[in-house]
Amino acid sequence: MSNAVLASDRPGSAPIIQERGQRAVFCGLTSIIWLHRKIQDAFFLVVGSRTCAHLIQSAAGVMIFAEPRFATAVLQDRDLAGLADANEELDRVAAQVIARRPEIKTIFLVSSCPSEVIKLDLANAAQRLGQKYDGRIRFVDYSGSGIETTFTQGEDSCLESLAAQLPTDDSGKPALMVAGSLPDIVEDQFARLFEQLGIGPVHFFPARSSNEMPPIGPQTRLLLAQPFLGNTTRALGKRGATLLPAPYPYGAEGTTAWLRAAADAFGVAPEHFDQVTAAPKARAMRALEAPRERLAGKRITFLPDSQMELPLARFLHRECGMALGEVGTPFFDQQTMAAELPLLPEGVRITEGQDLDPQLDRVRAARPDLTVCGMGIANPLESEGLRTKWSIELVFTPVHGYDQAGDLAGLFTRPLLRQDMLEV
Ligand code: SF4
Repeated sequence: MSNAVLASDRPGSAPIIQERGQRAVFCGLTSIIWLHRKIQDAFFLVVGSRTCAHLIQSAAGVMIFAEPRFATAVLQDRDLAGLADANEELDRVAAQVIARRPEIKTIFLVSSCPSEVIKLDLANAAQRLGQKYDGRIRFVDYSGSGIETTFTQGEDSCLESLAAQLPTDDSGKPALMVAGSLPDIVEDQFARLFEQLGIGPVHFFPARSSNEMPPIGPQTRLLLAQPFLGNTTRALGKRGATLLPAPYPYGAEGTTAWLRAAADAFGVAPEHFDQVTAAPKARAMRALEAPRERLAGKRITFLPDSQMELPLARFLHRECGMALGEVGTPFFDQQTMAAELPLLPEGVRITEGQDLDPQLDRVRAARPDLTVCGMGIANPLESEGLRTKWSIELVFTPVHGYDQAGDLAGLFTRPLLRQDMLEV
């Protein structure tokens, strides 16, 4: 274990403490569950072991009656020993997918711990297969491996690879790109708001289908919808996009600030902005009244898991009145957190990375009213009488924007309600 202290740019605030030690997080393969729902003509082919296959099958348990658009090409012992040509097997499986699923336009080759250990070159495989299918099917490789990653990094890694293949926007006209996969219903709500504000064209990345992936160029203004896209942001930056620093669209305040960043970049008059956002903002604030009554004054701790911890802590503190204990994040990215950090209260303890046992000891000592953590940690804490919330739920549930503000707060009231019922 090692601890180091990172600099903080918040005057008078506590520094960010870096922790290194035992970690307990899901790997990036988990993100296939929401990514395959988002990109509706994509297939995710994991090149991995039976463990990888079990992980995505159990994470996607609810999909059992649908024909899933993901599979695992299981590496056998012979492959792992380097005796068989895993590339031949990969070509065979890709051909099978294409024959069975003519609607598929993109195949993601997703590497895992085992394929990375044997150094299977999926970048080369993607290039070779792309040539073989002559542009009819796009092949993109990325890593979902669990070595030193966390589950939301799967999306970051996927979009980073995809960024290199986006068409070039040479229109010379400004366009807004919203990056990070959002449920379609939330995307539609944001699209309507941007239209009412007079901002356009607006592209969502990733798009719902392969042939609608957005163009990118020096006039692209980038607004992040998800806080875990550090590498994607840098990849889009290399293609010319300019990041609009903004808090993430959680709650009434976060959503307003996020929309305002785009409005300012596109020269929307402040009066028009207020006029368009007044009604949905008021609705969001009304929806927050009831959960706020239950959450105000309650203490919450975040264990590092999703990279959504800082923006969620900001929302729960500022809009729901919760008191923040430790806020852990698996990675702290200065660029993507620049607008969030100043909104956190001074002195809050922020940790980056994980050293599980001392972190759990601190939770046990502090006994917060609620701990947001990974699924594997939740049960032991519950058995000790501590209330928990699985952080992975926050990725699977629509939580962004004005219309979801009440639902987002509601996710945190539920464990407390259950506690009250148990105590009656
Ligand atoms: S990628 Fe690695 S961590 Fe993830 S399921 Fe496969 S073996 Fe496990």
